[in-house]
Amino acid sequence: MATKQFKTESKRLLDLMINSIYTHREIFLRELISNASDAIDKIYYKALTDKSLSFDKDNYFIKITADKENRILKIADTGIGMTKEELDENLGVIAKSGSLQFKKENELKDGHDIIGQFGVGFYSAFMVADTVTVISKALGRDEAYKWESKGADGYSIETAEKDTVGTEIILKIKANTEEESFDEYLEEYRLKSIIKKYSDFIRYPIKMDVTGR
Ligand code: ADP
Ligand code: MG
Repeated sequence: MATKQFKTESKRLLDLMINSIYTHREIFLRELISNASDAIDKIYYKALTDKSLSFDKDNYFIKITADKENRILKIADTGIGMTKEELDENLGVIAKSGSLQFKKENELKDGHDIIGQFGVGFYSAFMVADTVTVISKALGRDEAYKWESKGADGYSIETAEKDTVGTEIILKIKANTEEESFDEYLEEYRLKSIIKKYSDFIRYPIKMDVTGR
């Protein structure tokens, strides 16, 4: 399976995300939930006007699953999903993201405040995860795809199994270091408080399931 390289400017931001000694790592969850919500918005509005799509409000939700034993945090949505091409275009190029705006307006000299203030997007996942896997099935498509990256080295895309339309972002949470513990991003109370702080306004239910200790 071929590994693709990130575009140059994506790489710069990615480096910042991976290497920053950053006090606001928690905002990765805000970014992933906001992406999930955006994706559900897209399918929600489509379903309102497209009679061929069944419309049931209960079908639209975000589900967060933490598996402490395996250090896996999953953010799943029932949104519009991404095709293979969209995975490649949207997740391989930072220029597509809100990050571009902050990068243009602010040179990356003081990452600390900048990241907290602006939407930094999908790549913020690399602040807490050393592998990010995205499994997605786009509306109207039969096949699903898996995008995976360990950061700066690039990413790969291959076919995957997924029954329902939508996207799953799977984070392999970093191992603790002497300076820093990442365990908190697998703790239910901590995840709930981050959601309350940043994602209180999200219009879709956010379900949670935490296993292990
Ligand atoms: P932004 O949200 O500002 O566009 P991001 O870096 O957060 O930038 O995300 C980049 C793009 O990836 C989004 O615009 C969207 O097209 C796609 N994307 C990310 N997460 C999802 C998701 N859960 N479902 C569908 N598309 C997504
Ligand atoms: Mg976003």
